[in-house]
Amino acid sequence: MTKPLLPRICITATGRTPAELFDCARRALGYSRLVELRLDWATNPAEALVTIPELSREARRVAGKNSQLLATCRRQANGGRFRGTISKQLEILEQAADLGCDLVDLEIESAEAAGDEKVARLRQAAALVLSFHDFERMPRLESWARRLRRFPADYYKLVGTATRQSDNSDALDFLTKVNGRGGEAGRWIAFCMGDTGIPSRILAVSRGSRFVYASCPPTPRLWRTGPPESNETNSPREPNEPAAPGQLDWETLRNRYRAEKLTRRTSLYGLVGCPVRHSIGAAIHNAAFQARGLDAVYLPLLVSDLKGFRKAAERYPLAGFSVTIPHKQGILRLVDKTDRTVRAAGAANTVRARRNRWEAINTDVEGIVAPLRKALRLRAREPLPAGFRAVIVGNGGAARAAVVALRELRCRAISITGRNPSKVARFTRELGCQALSFERLERERFDLLVHSTPVGMWPHTGECALRPEQINARVVFDLIYNPPETRLLELARARGCRTISGLDMFLAQAARQFGYWTGLEPPIRLMKRVALEELGRLTQRVT
Ligand code: NAP
Repeated sequence: MTKPLLPRICITATGRTPAELFDCARRALGYSRLVELRLDWATNPAEALVTIPELSREARRVAGKNSQLLATCRRQANGGRFRGTISKQLEILEQAADLGCDLVDLEIESAEAAGDEKVARLRQAAALVLSFHDFERMPRLESWARRLRRFPADYYKLVGTATRQSDNSDALDFLTKVNGRGGEAGRWIAFCMGDTGIPSRILAVSRGSRFVYASCPPTPRLWRTGPPESNETNSPREPNEPAAPGQLDWETLRNRYRAEKLTRRTSLYGLVGCPVRHSIGAAIHNAAFQARGLDAVYLPLLVSDLKGFRKAAERYPLAGFSVTIPHKQGILRLVDKTDRTVRAAGAANTVRARRNRWEAINTDVEGIVAPLRKALRLRAREPLPAGFRAVIVGNGGAARAAVVALRELRCRAISITGRNPSKVARFTRELGCQALSFERLERERFDLLVHSTPVGMWPHTGECALRPEQINARVVFDLIYNPPETRLLELARARGCRTISGLDMFLAQAARQFGYWTGLEPPIRLMKRVALEELGRLTQRVT
């Protein structure tokens, strides 16, 4: 069987009825010439076969001769949804091939049970992708590879589930190795599932994976305003539901991460934290890299425990990364060098690797200083006027950065207020500020009020930590950036205050990160536009 010329991103089409599957696959063909039909997701997979002749014609019509349909009917025992026997599974796959599918996916467990002869017969009908999936952990790749190789196949697919970043490096190193073997180059597909495994999906093609899988991009009609109802998020009716944990949609994989264009020489950056998937950082930094013509990518690096992270990061290898909750303090144990802002704040949010040494800075501090200078019309190095009084609401990490930022601007009178007086007392003792009760906010007047709690963040946008009479400041700076316009800022403006949005902080700190990593001027206007677009998308999409 001659090998088909395959695109590098395969879109997985799903649907419970033949009509849903057809609709999803037809939309997918508008994006990619390679579409996987998950027959096992249909309530009746045998019935879903009727879609294939029409889809096959549609594929040739929309995508030309090089279009390919891949049929999968994975058994429930192996992570799919098909409840029938192995004989029935093989029968469905053979029929799919007869009706026009160019490739079929058969899992190794079924192949082993069916035996050489039946597998060889199936391979005569269509190109065979012989697969193994582990939905819980990372399998021993080399030993599963040996098991797969016992059957002649056109492609081998090996997929595990990442629980730590080193699992991604294992999959990527495996790809590099098998592609280095003459006869095997271009025949393997490997990556990790799960949110932790997303970097391996993005980088797999750069290390030689024949292709990777994506879901169909969401269509505007699937967006709605407001958060999903709790029982809706994983509705089986949702045609854009990823077919596997961690699967990205085609547009994100191709346009944001440039998965098809990355190479082994691409510089790797990312966001380290837990959670990271819904951060707008990836959209902003990847757009900035592209705008400056850099061969670099910014990855979501889900890390629940920093143990072993440095080794994993060096295997990628990461050129630099942002750090978010909960690792801004813990990361200090892994770095070799810190600057003044990190030491003052006791936390870092940006790291770069230089000659095997990790250097850390805290751009949150600059993210607060820069918009304040602008709003208060302070020239570079000009301090705040004597007697300037600031109050910070909240006593977490961002409040700490705000204290350091205000000290950089020579503010002497900094008060802290929060919901837990003993935590506030500890914070003020450590940082040398004044504690203030919530009630006193009504009676005092400040030059600046900085809000640093999550109250009012999307999706709870109607909430506000303060009552209008507690907002007594000339300038109000809400550190929340999603939404950029919070209820607090609305109330503050109604009381005649000047306001600063947390989005200004986010952009200022991201711009500083970009400069620190690349040495180039950040494309700030573009970063702002992308941030606003992404915030709009995040608050509209169902998942
Ligand atoms: P954090 O370390 O978890 O601290 C959160 C603070 O908010 C704590 O003092 C906490 O009080 C208080 N808090 C939480 N829920 C509250 C509630 N329902 N009512 C009153 N107080 C409440 O978080 P963080 O890193 O400081 O972040 C705080 C905010 O700043 C978040 O909205 C975050 O998105 C924003 N932020 C923005 C940027 C940016 O670039 N714009 C950067 C960093 C952070 P307890 O101590 O009593 O729990």
